[in-house]
Amino acid sequence: MNYPRRKDEVLERYSRVFPRSSRVTYAPIVGVKAQNARVWDIEGREYIDFLSDAAVQNVGHNNPRVVQAIKDQAERLIHFTFIYGFPVEPLLLAEKLAEIAPIESPKVSFGMSGSDANDGAIKLARAYTGRRTILSYLRSYYGATYGAMSITGLDFEVRSKVGELSGIHYIPYPNCYRCPFGKEPKTCKMECVSYLKEKFEGEVYAEGTAALFAEPIQGDAGMVVPPEDYFREVKKILDEHGILLIVDEVQSGMGRTGKWFAIEHFGVKPDVITLAKPLGGGLPISAIIGRSDVMDSLPSLGHTFTLSGNPVTSRAALAVIEEIEEKDLLRRAKKLGKYTKKRLEKMKKEHELIGDVRGLGLMLGVDLVKDRETKERAYEEARKVVWRAYELGLVLAFLQGNVLRIQPPLTIEEELLEEGLNRLEQAIADVEEGRV
Ligand code: PLP
Repeated sequence: MNYPRRKDEVLERYSRVFPRSSRVTYAPIVGVKAQNARVWDIEGREYIDFLSDAAVQNVGHNNPRVVQAIKDQAERLIHFTFIYGFPVEPLLLAEKLAEIAPIESPKVSFGMSGSDANDGAIKLARAYTGRRTILSYLRSYYGATYGAMSITGLDFEVRSKVGELSGIHYIPYPNCYRCPFGKEPKTCKMECVSYLKEKFEGEVYAEGTAALFAEPIQGDAGMVVPPEDYFREVKKILDEHGILLIVDEVQSGMGRTGKWFAIEHFGVKPDVITLAKPLGGGLPISAIIGRSDVMDSLPSLGHTFTLSGNPVTSRAALAVIEEIEEKDLLRRAKKLGKYTKKRLEKMKKEHELIGDVRGLGLMLGVDLVKDRETKERAYEEARKVVWRAYELGLVLAFLQGNVLRIQPPLTIEEELLEEGLNRLEQAIADVEEGRV
């Protein structure tokens, strides 16, 4: 094995073997080691990870409990396929997920990525209702497999090249900062809800619709939080028409917002939940958790993979859950989230570049604008802030081109969080004052 020694060598070799389609690069960090919220690159430089590795490391990078669980399980049994066997670890995990999910006596199915979980949920919705139409939101992100890509409402160049599933309709997501109906929160009459009501009176939606897919907080759209009553109102409409509410908790789940599942903030019980990213502490595992009548609607092998229900990934996920419970990380996410948001609000007072600060728990976004009145997105400035943060030793990214993504591990040390926020403010000031 020809192990590289320098960053430039890695970057050069990357471009030779990986296609464009498999990478998004904000800043070239060649990570070789990580612990909790710190990452070290190949040249020994230390960074604070404010992304949790894209909302994966809720319990911190290389969490010792997760590492131990993986080692123990790998020594005992790496795999025994779910298709023919009955490994014990996925059973324990399914029972635990059923206990914490806000769905009564659910059933659980496993996969390897958020995308495949969403594909499975599309199949379940269509099989259960016998209907084909799926409602989704503009600017949503559900993944890269065919089904998940098709229900994704971000403008995807790839879709026009490769085609997509039929029967998908997109509706606007409620957005109190950039309202798609041109309203202001103080005077609006929840046009986002009446829009949906009108769509159901007379249009194709009512008869042929199987499900509405929703992120309880839109992550990749820029951490957009809906009004508190929104999902309650939507669920009433869906229930009237026998339509399932499928909630994607791939990014917002596992304690990220201060509750196990972000939908719990909105007082609604969904019919199906999809989960991945932080579930396995960095190992590839996803879950669909759903009402048992819905989950039983697909025939045998309707959504099974050879490697799903893997004992090692299941043990890692059990360790993640134990860690969240024992360290009281739901409370910690709430507490650190409140503190971080306050600091970001304070930055907003001092930096014109910040148009909005939003989010729940440690799922936060900072919307950079050229002008607070027009809310024109500050694309170039956001790119520079992310780059400057990287130079200052902070891992950061932007969403929608202009929203800074702030999602540190729930376990981040308080001093490190403070230091990361200082570096972030420095990066913003450097860009505002033209130093970069
Ligand atoms: N759903 C949401 C909300 C996501 O943020 C993502 C990934 O960013 C996915 C689904 C897809 O998950 P994966 O990349 O594991 O397929």
